[in-house]
Amino acid sequence: VSEGGDYVFRYPLVTGGHDPVYHDPLVEMIRVLLESLLDVVVLTYGGKEVKADGFRLLTRPEEEFRIFGPRPSLDGQERPNLQSVRNAALYEPRIVLIERALAAILSVVELEGEEGPVSVSGFRLRDPRHWLMPSAGDPLEVFGYAATRCNVDCSFCYLKGDPPDLALVSPRRKAADELAEMMTRLRYFDPEAGRALFPAWGEIREALAYPHILTILKALRQKTLRPFRIYTSGRALTREMVKELAALGPLYIYLSLHSASPDRLSRLVHRARPEVQLAAPRLLQEYGIPYAIALVPWPQDGLAPMLEDLQETISHFDQYQPHLFQVHLPGYTRYYSSVPLFDHEEVWGAIVTMVRKLRQEVRSPIVAMPTMYEETRFEGVRNQARIIGLVPNSPAQRAGLSPGDLIVAVGAVAVRNRPQARDLLALARAHGKPFPMVVRRGEKDLVVTIDPQDYGYPYDPHVDRHLGVITMGMGFRTRYVEALRDLIQERGARHVLFLSSRLVRPYFEDALREVGLIDATMVRLDIEVPENRYFGGNIILGDLLVVQDFIDHIRDYLARGNPRPDLVVIPSTPFGLGAWRRDLTGRPYMDIERATGVPVALLECERIYE
Ligand code: SF4
Repeated sequence: VSEGGDYVFRYPLVTGGHDPVYHDPLVEMIRVLLESLLDVVVLTYGGKEVKADGFRLLTRPEEEFRIFGPRPSLDGQERPNLQSVRNAALYEPRIVLIERALAAILSVVELEGEEGPVSVSGFRLRDPRHWLMPSAGDPLEVFGYAATRCNVDCSFCYLKGDPPDLALVSPRRKAADELAEMMTRLRYFDPEAGRALFPAWGEIREALAYPHILTILKALRQKTLRPFRIYTSGRALTREMVKELAALGPLYIYLSLHSASPDRLSRLVHRARPEVQLAAPRLLQEYGIPYAIALVPWPQDGLAPMLEDLQETISHFDQYQPHLFQVHLPGYTRYYSSVPLFDHEEVWGAIVTMVRKLRQEVRSPIVAMPTMYEETRFEGVRNQARIIGLVPNSPAQRAGLSPGDLIVAVGAVAVRNRPQARDLLALARAHGKPFPMVVRRGEKDLVVTIDPQDYGYPYDPHVDRHLGVITMGMGFRTRYVEALRDLIQERGARHVLFLSSRLVRPYFEDALREVGLIDATMVRLDIEVPENRYFGGNIILGDLLVVQDFIDHIRDYLARGNPRPDLVVIPSTPFGLGAWRRDLTGRPYMDIERATGVPVALLECERIYE
């Protein structure tokens, strides 16, 4: 902690760890400085982007040196009780720039102190105020740093399948050290001004397993009234804890409860305390805390027992009025299992079929995530504003809406698709006045009046943006197709390769047909889906693709005999975790263009959470 009481962010410095591209150490120093700079800036001249891949020394104008070498490995840089440079590569690469610049300079000079040469093994940030970033103002930006440990051990824990070079790392530190960091983060957290200290998320575990969690939540509540969203296994949700949390509202609990059977829960989740975890829904209901039950059906004993348990679990917990059931379709990476664990289509299809059946039987809404899978496989028409469930006692449920209703108009505005309907509902909720809504039920159009002030538990206007209406995910915004057209026109491209994902591609193609903005006689537009080799297993989410997956796919596209495209367009979301356009390994997206020689542009998209 500094004299001013701030936590000091300290990083290790590894000198001499990288293989040089040039043996002349002074040339190599300049190369590394330029390479590191070009990972965080884009040069411009006269307002236009300029790309550079080499340099000349003024003393040796006849010789050209290349800037980019093999990407230096960040392996072996973690040090106990220090921050992680690998993590900074994703969230604050200016710290990597400092590390690389210092290492490059220290390869040719030694620093001197009063007593002679000083050996340097790390560096610290002088002042946290230099490192403020735009913030969404979510309290999780402070207390999320408590989620560094877990109190259970799920057999399918997603962290067991993490590749070794993922940037989402945080070295083990003492709880007191983490508290000092969170208190400093809290000091600079300004939700009203939309500012916070730079993020440094590692692997997210269980915040309620952190010994000082109540201290940090109480301090946060003095600063913001925004809801706390807490992810938990429920193992810490004793009556005392639930009572303490209830006094800190508004909050929303994502309760991971994979089974209502104590025996199955104990087999799926080692170190479980079924007597505490299974009692948590009733306690949360008693204390008026809205919560979702998040569960992963895992076919460890075969499909039939898994489906039976899913049915029993949802039917059982429905009596305690969860705000929502989130059924996560089971996923694993090649690091979790190098051989297929189950028939992906069969298992996902069977789970969604069961979810669709259960929606007819229980009161609380159920979503199967990723929602685009269900819609593409089971619905005739995608992106419709159809209601699949209603939060009990929400304004929408109390107004008489029904699962299956198709939203036709909100207020006086006709609805074209799902994202638009959700935007209109969010506006109506913020407005707070009763309004009419037209829905199609069967063949008939009905008008209902929704009063945003008419609600009861578990609905909570602090956490529910759509008045209790649950749809099959966020849907797809057709403006992405317009943005793609603008990008193509701006770049004057005639042959474009658009890299999508298995789940989004059908939506994109629908929107392209519907909007008809791209003239196929003028522009060749190839839409392809890169394979997720980095994570492997049955991972199909586009947001989990990394730079190397895109490079491999473009090379493969060219190797199949396709002519070199003028432009490759990639949705921005695989590079959207931090603000610096890095993939999950901390690698900049510009590496795709550097490796393939094909111009690459990102298409700005929202991350799909559902
Ligand atoms: S609760 Fe989450 S972090 Fe903890 S073991 Fe289970 S999946 Fe992993």
